[in-house]
Amino acid sequence: MHDLHTHSLCSDGILRPQALVSRAKTQGVTVLALTDHDTVVGIDEAQAAAAEEGIRVLPGIEFSCLWNGVGIHIVGLNIDPAHPQMQAAVARQGESRETRARQIGEKLAKAGIPGALEGAKKKAGDAVIGRPHFAQFLVETGRVSSMNAAFKKYLGAGKVGDVKQVWPPVAEAVSWILAAGGVAVIAHPDKYKMTRTKLGRLISDFAEAGGQAIEVVSGHQQPDLTRDLARIANQHGLYASCGSDFHVPDQSWQELGSFSALPDDCRPVWELWG
Ligand code: AMP
Ligand code: MN
Ligand code: MN
Ligand code: MN
Repeated sequence: MHDLHTHSLCSDGILRPQALVSRAKTQGVTVLALTDHDTVVGIDEAQAAAAEEGIRVLPGIEFSCLWNGVGIHIVGLNIDPAHPQMQAAVARQGESRETRARQIGEKLAKAGIPGALEGAKKKAGDAVIGRPHFAQFLVETGRVSSMNAAFKKYLGAGKVGDVKQVWPPVAEAVSWILAAGGVAVIAHPDKYKMTRTKLGRLISDFAEAGGQAIEVVSGHQQPDLTRDLARIANQHGLYASCGSDFHVPDQSWQELGSFSALPDDCRPVWELWG
């Protein structure tokens, strides 16, 4: 079975790429895409481990972008991580993450929380820095009681730590993925809390830019939602992808390979690379 959306400790996951691949194998995954946020550094290790375990690892990435003021995630599947345009894209996204982290740090300082940038950097270590590292800092310094509360109070959409103007337009991220020979996929379409009309506009712009698929199944979700997203994919002539969006072990709602199959009337995205 395919799990085409997962994270390692190279971004905001917990497992090393090698451990992610072992766990995927145990969970019955036969084709795994490693799609860390804005980085491809874990892919070599994952592919080496996959050769040992006898499963297939597809090189992937999850780009942070902006569309009409909404933060959108675009997954690239079956990319060439070494392609010059992919390398340039990753460098640029890394700089944007640094810029954004400084801005988040300044905003939190103004809101009475000093030291957040330093704290988040310590949490990130060698990983690309992200909001979850700020969330960990906020939890560990007792500002909030959970990661979820950190997003709700400080880091989520519309809160002081929600800085998204650094991100490129969706069409640009799609162009990077295409240049690197990959397939572009709209990640977790239901997470943006858009009306179906607005989502339709996003999908049209995405398809016009060369995007080819949407995640019809993202982790555990209601059957109604799966049917709705399958209908939307078919309406727009898009392929369907599926993935757990795995970050952390032992959270029942987010386990590798743990989600329902794509509806029969979908065209699975893997038909594109066979
Ligand atoms: P970033 O990529 O730095 O913008 O951070 C976004 C990441 O934060 C997502 O990919 C999730 O892994 C994580 N995240 C978003 N919302 C929450 C939440 N409510 N609780 C915990 N983690 C979250
Ligand atoms: Mn994440
Ligand atoms: Mn995402
Ligand atoms: Mn993700």
